[in-house]
Parts: sequence; C-alpha cells; structure tokens
Amino acid sequence: MLKPKSRGKASQSAVTLLIMAATGAVLFTLTAGGIVYTNTKALIAASSRVQHTQDVLSALQRVSLLVERIEYRSRLFLLSGNEEQLNRALASSNQLLTTAIRVQGMVSDNPNQRDNVRNLLICARDLDRSAKSFNAHSTLPELVMQHCQETIGLMNDQEQSLLEERSSGSERRSVVSIGTEFGFVAFSLLSLAVLFGLLLRDALRRQRLSKKTALTNQRLEESVNALKDRASETSMLTLARDELQLCIDMQQVYRSAANSFSRLLEGTAGSLCIINNSRQLVEVVSTWGESAVEEFHSPESCCGLRSGQPRWRAPGVSEIHCTHFSGILPERYLCQPIVAHGNTLGLLYVQCATEDVVRVVNSRLDGIRQLVQLTGMAIATLNLRTKLENQSIRDSLTGLFNRHFMQISLERELARASRRKQTLSVYMLDLDHFKRFNDTYGHGAGDAVLKSVAEIFKNSVRTEDIACRYGGEEFTIILPDVTPTVAYERAESIRRAVSALRIPLAGETLSDFSVSIGVSLYPQDGESAELLLSRADQALYRAKRAGRDQVAIYDSLVGAR
Ligand code: GH3
Ligand code: MG
Ligand code: MG
Repeated sequence: MLKPKSRGKASQSAVTLLIMAATGAVLFTLTAGGIVYTNTKALIAASSRVQHTQDVLSALQRVSLLVERIEYRSRLFLLSGNEEQLNRALASSNQLLTTAIRVQGMVSDNPNQRDNVRNLLICARDLDRSAKSFNAHSTLPELVMQHCQETIGLMNDQEQSLLEERSSGSERRSVVSIGTEFGFVAFSLLSLAVLFGLLLRDALRRQRLSKKTALTNQRLEESVNALKDRASETSMLTLARDELQLCIDMQQVYRSAANSFSRLLEGTAGSLCIINNSRQLVEVVSTWGESAVEEFHSPESCCGLRSGQPRWRAPGVSEIHCTHFSGILPERYLCQPIVAHGNTLGLLYVQCATEDVVRVVNSRLDGIRQLVQLTGMAIATLNLRTKLENQSIRDSLTGLFNRHFMQISLERELARASRRKQTLSVYMLDLDHFKRFNDTYGHGAGDAVLKSVAEIFKNSVRTEDIACRYGGEEFTIILPDVTPTVAYERAESIRRAVSALRIPLAGETLSDFSVSIGVSLYPQDGESAELLLSRADQALYRAKRAGRDQVAIYDSLVGAR
C-alpha cells in the first residue's frame, strides 16, 4: 500500500508533468505554426517568382511573335502592295514597342537582363521607326529583326535558366516545407502518443491505486468489524462469566447460561441439556427460542454426545440426524457436549433456521467453546460446592444435618421467631436401649437402624423443620412456628413411627425399636438455644425415667426430676 506522503508526491509530479507537457505542446504548436506560416509564405513567393518568369517568357514569346509578324506583314506588303498588310505590320510594331517596354518593367529586378532588355528596346524602336517609314520601295530591316530575335533568344535563355533555377528552388522549398510539416505532424503525433501514454499510465496507476485502496479499505472495514465483533463477544463472555459466578443454585446456572447463549448466538433457538446422576437420561434444563429437542432423552440419541465432539447437522455437512426430537426434524443444528474436568455433564443444542444464522454461529464457534467451558465449570463448581457444603453440614451416615449446623440453625430460627413473634419447638430424641441392640446385632445392624430412623425423621417433618443427628443415637429436631399441642402431636407421631419400624436383617425382621422424646418450647421454656436444648434434654431425661418410648414436654414445675 502506498503511504499518503509518497502518494501525494506521485500525484504532484504527475501534475507537474502534465503542466510541462501542456506548455511544451503550446510552444511546439506555436513554433510549428510559425514555421509552417513562414514556409508557406516562402512557397507562395517562390511560386509567384516562377509565375513571374513564366510571364516574362510569355511576353518574350509575344515579342518574338510580333517581330515575326512585322516581317511577315512587311513581306506581304512588298509582294502585294496591299496597304492593309502595311498597317498591320505597323500595328504589330507598335505592339512590339509596348510589349518590349512591359518586358523591361518585368525584368527590371534582374541585372543579368539589363543589357538584353536595353538592346530589345533599341531593336523595338528601330523596327517601329522603320515600320512607320516603310513603303513599297523599302527593304526589310532584316539585320534589326535578326538582332531582335537574337536578343529575344538571349533573354529567353536567361529567363529559361532563371525559370529552371526558380522552379528547382521552389521545388526544394516545397520538399523542405512538406518534410518540415510532415516532421511536425509526426512529432505532434509522437508527442500526443507520449502524452496519451503518460496519461494512460497515470490513469491506470490511479485505477490500480484506487482498486488497491478500495481493497485495503474493505479489508480494514472487515478487520474493524471482526474486532468489534470480537470485542462484543468478549464483553458478552465476561458478562456471562460474572453472571455464572453469581449463581448459587443450578437453576440459576441453567437460566443464566441459556440467556448468555441466546445473546451470543442471535437468531438461534436452543437448549441446555444435563445428564442425570444415573447417566441414563438427558434432561432439558433450560431453553431459548423454539427449540425442537425432546425434554427427556437418552445420551445415545445425540450424535454429538456419542462422538464427544461438537457436531453440525446441516445440508452439505451431514445428513445423519440425532433422535432427540419430538416433532418435525430441524434442518440445521449444532450439538456440543458440555465437559468439565473430563466428565461429560450434558449437551448444548443450537438450532438455526437459516444459512445466515449458521454463518453467525460458525463465526462464534470460539465464543461457544468458551461459554460451554464456563457453563461446564460453573455446573461442576456448584456440584462440588453442594457436595462440600453437604459434607460440612450433614452427617455422613444418616444424611441428617450435623450438630454444628443444628446449633447455627437454632440461633437463626430463634432470631426469626423473636422477630416475627412466633413460637418454636425443640425435640431431643434418644433411641432406647441402643447399646443393647448394638451388642446383640452388631455395629453394622446398629448403623442400619440409625439410617432407618433418620428416614422416619426426614419423612415426618415439614420442609421448614430441621432434623439433626446430635451425636451417637441422639437426635434433635427444630420446629419453627408450632403450638405446644402440635409440637406434642408431631413428637408422638414420630415416636409411633419408630415403634412401628421393622428392619429385615439376615433372614429375620428386627422390631421392638423405640425412641424417647423430650420437647421444649420457645418462648415459655427459654429464649436461648442453650436453655431450650437443655430443657428439651431435661424432658428427655424425664421420658427415659418414666419408662422410655414416650414423649415428655418440659415442665418448669417438674424440671429435671
Ligand atoms: P438408653 O435407653 O438409656 O438411652 O440406653 P442406651 O443403651 O441407648 O444408651 P447408652 O448411652 O448407654 O448407649 C448408647 C449406645 O449407642 C452406645 C453405642 O454403642 C451406641 N452408638 C452410639 N453411636 C453409634 C453409632 O454411630 N453406630 C452404632 N451402631 N452404635 C452407636
Ligand atoms: Mg444416648
Ligand atoms: Mg439411648
């Protein structure tokens, strides 16, 4: 590409060249015109000189003819005596004199003819005189006539050689003139050709330059557009990453990812599909646009999942369809597996209505790959966080919340109850004679019982209730917003459920399980977590002492007795 400075220099030199060429052309035309004018003028002069010599020759011829006529008429008069002939000879001599005088004027510019013309005039006068005095007895002035004819001959020779000289001069001049003019014409044509060539070269150079500039501009525009596109893609990806980092549950991740994909891939429809824990089923977890993918399908139904690679199905690319569609098969779609830490988590499905939309998607394949990675990482991170959170707040054997979580939750629920002026109940539960069961059936059987009892607790409480393993075979349940009656009834129903528990083990069915439950109530039994727990424990102690397998509500009058 030409730099602007050198391009400016080039156009400046072209303009200078054109100005110089135009000035040269004007000067040349003026000079050529001047020379042609001079040549033409000289030619005209030469031709008029030739004409003049020819006129002189004609006049001399006439003079010679008149001399002959005088001689001829005079002879006729002498022979016939006819006066008429004499008169005619007289008239001819008169004319001879006049013509001789005219010839004198005509050759006055020629010094070579000066003597001859003087002789001619003398002869003419002599002949005129003799003609005037001529009679029947006179003799012909033959000597004069002869002298006259000789003079005419000399003059004629002189004029002939002058004519030759002038003719050849004129011819030379005309040849030179034609040559010069031809030269000028040739030079003009050559100059025109050179000028035309220069202009043509300049025009072609300009054309090439403008083509080059247009191409450069087009490339520049394309680069700018690509950069803009890349910048908007980067900002979209940054936004998507920030959004995904803010998500605290899977639904938010799915929704946020779908929004980001719909923004990144304008004009498309699509779905985010996740493989379930059993890895037998793929579930559509979020969708944008009119996606044709079925809500539940098997991993084998997707060619992309089977190949482990992003896969286009489009006319001219692949004719093989995935089978995860419920209605009419779409024509163009992309299936890209979502992978994190080497695990395939699910599938990104992108559906394109037209070839233009396919082009948009193809131009953003890198962005798709990055967003799929971000989504996969967000899902994997959230999975890991949930797992870690569960590990830190749940008891690994029973799946109930652990004691630490119970304590935090109790503080929180008490604060909430106090704020909302609501009640709250705390259960302390302890399996009866569990040591004995362990000793009889072994620790493994004891664990199985603990799991089964935990399931009963989970199934017996509301979602807002919090069931925890306090330690060993002791449990705590926090029940926000319950009346004393309801608290008692719920505890009773749990106790009954444990009593009814049957566990199949090594061919026999184990039964006779029981639990003792101590219940304390907020705010009447205490306002702090420690007090409520200790009072529930006191009630439990009372239930144990009263014979186990029963519910005891804390009674301040009875206390721990
Ligand atoms: P009581 O009716 O008075 O509560 O009698 P108990 O035998 O249930 O009470 P005790 O405190 O004497 O015994 C508790 C037993 O619980 C002791 C221990 O073997 C058993 N235990 C505690 N934690 C676990 C556990 O995680 N797994 C199993 N299998 N047993 C446990
Ligand atoms: Mg105990
Ligand atoms: Mg016990």
